[in-house]
Amino acid sequence: MPDSTLSPTIEAEVPSAAKASSAAKAPEDKSEDRQYDAAMRPRSFDEYVGQAHVKEALKIALDAAKMRNESIEHVLIYGGPGLGKTTLAHIIANHLSAPLRVTSGPAIERAGDLAAILTNLEPGSVLFIDECHRLPKTVEEILYPAMEDRALDLVIGKGPGARTLRIDLPPFTLVAATTRLSLLSSPLRDRFGHHFHIDAYNQEDIAEILRRNSVRLGLEHIAPDALSLIASRARGTPRIANRILKRIRDIAQVESTAQLDRSFVSGALERLHIDPLGLDAVDRKLLDSLTGVFNGGPVGLQAWAAATAQEMSTIEEIYEPFLLQLGLVDRTARGRVATKRAYEHLGKNMPEVQQPLL
Ligand code: ADP
Repeated sequence: MPDSTLSPTIEAEVPSAAKASSAAKAPEDKSEDRQYDAAMRPRSFDEYVGQAHVKEALKIALDAAKMRNESIEHVLIYGGPGLGKTTLAHIIANHLSAPLRVTSGPAIERAGDLAAILTNLEPGSVLFIDECHRLPKTVEEILYPAMEDRALDLVIGKGPGARTLRIDLPPFTLVAATTRLSLLSSPLRDRFGHHFHIDAYNQEDIAEILRRNSVRLGLEHIAPDALSLIASRARGTPRIANRILKRIRDIAQVESTAQLDRSFVSGALERLHIDPLGLDAVDRKLLDSLTGVFNGGPVGLQAWAAATAQEMSTIEEIYEPFLLQLGLVDRTARGRVATKRAYEHLGKNMPEVQQPLL
């Protein structure tokens, strides 16, 4: 490790760890929505729907570690946003009856932040780092010996008088999550003993999640085919399914509707601007701009983002994967292009030659 990362300012840096840890803790938010979010988050493997292969492998690893009275090897979880990575970290800690410390890549700005978090862990803790692809390089470097040798290498002082101090850390398990595995450096990736990929959920699993949560939200009377309709528009993502369910509950409440059948839900989805493919207003804005302003493309990400007032990373990480998956957009060497299916979905005619009008 390049020792200079921590050298002159370890003491000065530590206080900012308080910022990292407070950012890490969920801010106290007593809004009803937040409380329902907490109630809907599964706490055990039994409550975690789907992902059978991940659950099985994790349970074996956790139970074996428990029997040996050891910490489980570090765990890397990757998959799209809202698929249940954070939830799994909570379940791992619960299963081990271990304290959980939650933080995220962008919250750990400096090496000292991470040093403070690691030295304050209770023995046996689970440390969850969300968005670990966004950890700064200098922080990543102090994570390596921490993961491998359970030690922190600190450099005290500067220049010829500098000396290295090795601090032993308590046993802990790092659970790291990322939506962008390819952005993780390979030395970091290689230090995880377990790699799990969370896939999008099938419609039955999403319907089951909705069924369980409809009870928690007091919507026991919602018809099973209405739940299937929501599931078909939730992009295979539990967080989106839960969000739609909460909004439908709002509409039912405001309209004093007790009969939550398929036709009510279908009308509610229309009011929420969620179309039959599960596209929302932003997806359609992206497609409209690609087929309209850019005449079907090819267009670069930067221009597409500017034309739609979205951030490039938001398009790349949240919207584009689903548009690609549905075959509405294609990525070519020259840029993004709208497919025939996109024109059909928008009810537009496809131009014979796709070329930007700008
Ligand atoms: P991520 O960390 O991948 O962005 P989360 O773990 O925060 O996603 O999941 C978002 C929400 O979706 C959770 O609060 C939970 O209610 C729900 N959820 C996710 N995965 C599952 C699952 N397998 N079973 C039931 N609910 C789930």
